[in-house]
Amino acid sequence: MSDKNASMQRRRFLKMGAAGAAITILPVSWHAALAAERLDPSSAQARAMSYVENASDSTHSAYQAGHNCANCLMFSDPSQAEWGPCAVFPGKLVAAGGWCNAWVTRG
Ligand code: SF4
Repeated sequence: MSDKNASMQRRRFLKMGAAGAAITILPVSWHAALAAERLDPSSAQARAMSYVENASDSTHSAYQAGHNCANCLMFSDPSQAEWGPCAVFPGKLVAAGGWCNAWVTRG
């Protein structure tokens, strides 16, 4: 086999590897995005934590004006402006403007 043929085969192999990796990774990230659904405020887990989608609607004694999911340490993706993941409710999205009694300052 000539050096030129070997080089072309190596390039073809690398391209196939990159395509395979993309095919493997993309469904995982799509799956993660599809798996997350909005937390239902009327669900037992949400009610147990006094979760509300609009923080200012909270009547909980621990609620303080200005506290919301977007500035809570448990809101694990602050780049999300509307809905994002929360460590307290795995697999669910909470409203950035929401609140629950597990709120802790992002500091
Ligand atoms: Fe929102 Fe924080 Fe409660 Fe999660 S723990 S629902 S981010 S206030």
